[in-house]
Order: sequence, then structure tokens, then C-alpha cells
Amino acid sequence: MTEQKQMTTPITLYEGADLLTLDPLQPLIRNGAIAVSGTDILAVGPQPDLAKTYGAQATRIDWSGRLVLPGLVDGHSHLFQSLGRTLGDGLSLLPWLERFMLPLAANVTREDAIAIYRLAGLSSLLLGSTAVIDNHYAPVDPETIVALAGEMEGLGLRGVVARGIFGPMVEGGRRMNCDPRLFRHSAAEEIDLNRACLDAHPPGGRVEIWPMPENVVYLDPELMIACAELAAEHDIGWQIHCSESKFEVEIFESLYGKRPAIWMQAQGILSDRASLAHGIWFDEAEIEALGATETNIVHNPVCNQYLASGILKLEPLLAAGANVCLGSDGMAVGGSGMFEAMKAGFLLQRLRELNPLATSAELMLEMATLRGAKLLRRDLGQLRAGKLADFVALDLRGPVHQPLTRPAMAVVMAGLPPVTDVVVNGDIIVTGGRSTRLDHDKVISDGLQAAADLIDRAGLRGLVSDWIAPAHAIDAPYRAGSN
Ligand SMILES: [Zn+2]
Repeated sequence: MTEQKQMTTPITLYEGADLLTLDPLQPLIRNGAIAVSGTDILAVGPQPDLAKTYGAQATRIDWSGRLVLPGLVDGHSHLFQSLGRTLGDGLSLLPWLERFMLPLAANVTREDAIAIYRLAGLSSLLLGSTAVIDNHYAPVDPETIVALAGEMEGLGLRGVVARGIFGPMVEGGRRMNCDPRLFRHSAAEEIDLNRACLDAHPPGGRVEIWPMPENVVYLDPELMIACAELAAEHDIGWQIHCSESKFEVEIFESLYGKRPAIWMQAQGILSDRASLAHGIWFDEAEIEALGATETNIVHNPVCNQYLASGILKLEPLLAAGANVCLGSDGMAVGGSGMFEAMKAGFLLQRLRELNPLATSAELMLEMATLRGAKLLRRDLGQLRAGKLADFVALDLRGPVHQPLTRPAMAVVMAGLPPVTDVVVNGDIIVTGGRSTRLDHDKVISDGLQAAADLIDRAGLRGLVSDWIAPAHAIDAPYRAGSN
């Protein structure tokens, strides 16, 4: 920070909150303050100190009573899938894709995608995410992808529109019974379409466009490699679904003679630029390969339980050196955002290892912030001078969250804490629980209309049911004195 910048750039001072900084030098500051200048955090410290230094020149905002932490990075989502929220339950991954999600995706229009982007993006912000890596695969023409990047910017979010790439139908897609309507382009056409997106919306801004070859099993292997090369050429990341279900790994191995991560390592495409969503069914050799290459793995613990896919091997992956972060995987797989992802990951790993020391609140917070920042390739994820100013304020003063003796634990166990304020890139995006940029009522009504129309157009009305009786339904309420 030069002296000149301090003099010319306005400073905003957020005062009086307790700060969960994720900075090991001062992890918790009670009655703290954050000074923001432009897009960056200028200083973090006790409120009286910062008030003395910056109070006279700053715009001062009273955040007393709040708890502030770095904005959460949702490492893997599908915002458009909110169109089918609450539908398609009771299916494991393959039938879920085949009978529900891919037919839904094949019918989404650009207008649907934009309407739901506003609703799901707003919901992400109100659930504490300041950045989202969003895998959008319906529709994927450059005009839509670039429009969605604009929508993400308009919402005030940081993040990535990861353009879903299916390429030509290959044997893996046939074995997974994938909807052929999604496999419309040759490998060369897909790369050209991604280049057109990058030309129209070049990397380096608050929102980037990355290539996302959808899945190791149903992708043309040459196309997967070309996507990794395209990402390296533009100095951006790329993401792929990998080893989410046991069945996918079996198909891959039967087709290519190697397990997916070993095959990718042999092609030279594992690196800290790559991120693998889910990554549940890795064996020891794969975990070693992923660690040695510092590959990013996005753990989606709510989705993995919802679809009964399996449990990621967190400790072995971290010990090997992989960067494991967290994702929501969107609203259609039981997800409600990153606070729930932290809680689900915290509990699930303890159960996997039958060990209450398997996870800590601090580890989950790191995965949702600092490790997410590494995945995103941006200098954020801490309340610390010099970092990008992305943070969220919670109001945990009500009876639901008190007593708040250990704030890190309270945040991770909170489930759905009330997010009152969100700052992204130095701008106030949410205040008092409302977007500063969008009309909530209009966003909701447009999103609902798009969802209702799509369910009919995609022929999925049969999935809508008022009540599905459990297998052992009870039909005889107890009445006192009845016998
Ligand atoms: Zn996904």
C-alpha cells in the first residue's frame, strides 16, 4: 500500500465485530475492525487501534455484535440445477443423471439459465459464499456462458463459470446411458467454443471462464487433455468430475486399463491447476499421485450423502499433499450452501474414521476459505492486510446460537447462520440480509416461473409429488385414552 494510494483511495472501516481471521498470527480478534481500501484489506486489528489510525479519514460502518469471517469459496456448484431443486430424490448417481438431471439439462434455455442464476447466485451469497466455481452445462453456447459470467459479476459474486464440455459421444457415455442430446460437438469444436468464450471474456477479472470437461468416464480422452492444455495456455484452472461413484471407476478401468487419477498422471495433466470434483473412490496409488502433483480435490459431503456415493478419504489426501477444499454441488443434491458443507464434512469424516479427532472446526474453515482460495488461484481467504476484501458478517446473538464460547466451533456447527452482510472485492453486496443490487421478490418470481415451465417442457412433472409415503409408513396416531 503506497502512501499515495492511502491518500487518494477512500477507506471504509468496519468496526466492532469479532473477527475470525483464519490468520494464525491473530486467529480471533474480539471487538475488531477491518479497514478496506479499493479491492483490498488495508488493515485488520483491534477496533480502538484502527479507529485511531483511520477513523478521521474513513467511512465508518458499525458492525458491533457481528461475527466476521473470510467469505466462503464454494469450490464446486451447479447453479442451474436449482431449477430441479427438491426433485429426483431416492436415486444414486447414475439413475439420478439418466432419469432426472440430464433430461432436465437438455431442456434448459438461456432465459431459464439466466433467471435461475440470479436466484441461486443470490442464495449462495446469503448462505455466506463470496466465490463460486459454477459448472454450467446447460446450455453451453458462448453467448450463454458469457452472459452468465456477466450475471455472476452483476450479482457481485467472485468466481468461475466452468463451461461444461461433453464433446462427441464415446463408449463411456454409452455405458452410463448419458442423454445423447448433450453430446453435440466434436472435440475440436468444443475447444473452439471455449476459445470464443475466453476471447469474449478474457481471464484475470473477478469472474473467469474455465473449461470443464464434464467427467473422466464419458469424455473423449483427447478432449480432456486438450482442456488441460487450454487452461495452461491461458493461466487459468480447469475442473472435472472424477471418481464420484464406484461404478464410474469400474467403467473407466475397463475402458482404459488404469484407474482415473493414474491415467491422468500418465498424461501429465494433474497439477495445482486441475481440480477434481468429488474424488471419493481413489486407491492409495492415486492418492499419492494427487498429493505429489498438489491437485485440488473438491469435497462435496452433502451431495455424497444425498446420493449415497461414498465418503472421501480426507486425512490420506491431505497427508499426501492434495489441496482438499469444499463444495456445495448445488441445490439439487441436498445442498444448502457452504455452512452446511462444513458441518457435513466435519461430522462425516469423524464417522468414517470412528474418531472424534478426525476433523476440527478449524480444518473445515480452512478448507472453505484458504484452500478454496488456492483452488480459485486468488489471494484471499484470510482477514489480513493485503488480501482481497471478501468477507461475511453473521449475527449469532439470538438464542439459537448462544452461548458462543468458541466462535470457530459455533460457525461450523451453526448449520444456516443468519448472514447479515457480505463484502466482495471491497464492495458491499449484501446488507441487512438483502442484496444491494437485485430485487429479491423479482428474482424469486422469475426463478420460480422458469423452474415451473422447465419441469413441464422436460416432461418431469411426474417427479412432483406432495408426499411419498415411507416404506414402513405409520397410519395410526396414538390417542390418549383410546384403549
Ligand atoms: Zn457436480
